[in-house]
Amino acid sequence: MKTIDFTKLARPNIRSLKPYEAREIPCKVKLDANESPYSLPADKIFQAKNIINRLNRYPDPEAKKLKKTISKNLKVNTDSILLGNGSDELIYYLITAFGGPVLYPVPTFSMYGIISQACGEKGIEIPLDKGFDLDTDKMLAAVRKYNPKLIFLSSPNNPTGNCFSADRMLKIIEASKGIVVVDEAYQPFSSEKGFLPLLNDYKNLAILRTLSKIGFAALRVGFLIGDPGLIKEVNKVRLPFNLNALSQNIALEAFRRKKLMDSQIKNITSERERLFEELDKITGTSPYPSEANFILFKAKNANAVYQRLIKEGVLIRNLGSAIKDALRVTIGTPEENNFFIKALRKSAGGKK
Ligand code: PMP
Repeated sequence: MKTIDFTKLARPNIRSLKPYEAREIPCKVKLDANESPYSLPADKIFQAKNIINRLNRYPDPEAKKLKKTISKNLKVNTDSILLGNGSDELIYYLITAFGGPVLYPVPTFSMYGIISQACGEKGIEIPLDKGFDLDTDKMLAAVRKYNPKLIFLSSPNNPTGNCFSADRMLKIIEASKGIVVVDEAYQPFSSEKGFLPLLNDYKNLAILRTLSKIGFAALRVGFLIGDPGLIKEVNKVRLPFNLNALSQNIALEAFRRKKLMDSQIKNITSERERLFEELDKITGTSPYPSEANFILFKAKNANAVYQRLIKEGVLIRNLGSAIKDALRVTIGTPEENNFFIKALRKSAGGKK
């Protein structure tokens, strides 16, 4: 049989591409992926009438019911909404539709860079300032120099947890001739009101949201909100039936139980404050304030702490080279958080 070097066969931009790392490490307490520790009881959801009543037909290609529900919830018109198989897919569609250069601050969500490279587009990375805020001068200089088609601002930012200053974001939106996508995956956990209210003021502003962080990561439902003209262009590259029928229908159930979802979010944000104080008390670790469902913290010998935590049955995120000696922990249930803190005291060096 012929031998084929598939790497050589791949396009040059794919040859050097490193895929997104989503490692499955078995553990007692999983606090690595910014998922919610809560959801709706799956058994009750599946008993709910009409979750799915036919398997042989394609799902609603436009997900009309879900769009209508989101439209009511976010108070935006349905023609300003595009649904994706997770917001990841919408990032792919945005870059496919508009191309590059693509500008984003770093460290941030790695998919902006991975998808830019996958699409053969130039990714421009501008370091955040020391306080993890946008470096306005450098960002504006890059806007002038490269005239990016797309700018991604994750606010609250993953993995740093802070929101960027609104006035700095506005300066970038005003200076940009291209589209500025404010990725609000973690907005439900933030004390800031986010950029949705500004959509009518800036035509080049688009917003990304997701159900993944508020209890429904398994569904893969994300939404892009923006000017109907922008949505129309992105919709051209959307794959037919990109949102499966089960996800559409369970997402509807989630919105019907919004009160419960809101109370779960409240639990997470109050646990975040408790976890912050606990982390602050441990010798050798120092947490950064967070507006998201995770906390970034510095730890002496972070690699060793990360490995020891795995041995104790706790999986968190090692940020490796992105931020030196930093680890990221997702907020879990009170019990999970207690388990983590106990294991961390053992792994990092006890109380201060
Ligand atoms: N944006 C940010 C900032 C994220 O952190 C993530 C998930 N890690 C996503 C988007 C992707 O979310 P989804 O599950 O909706 O694809």
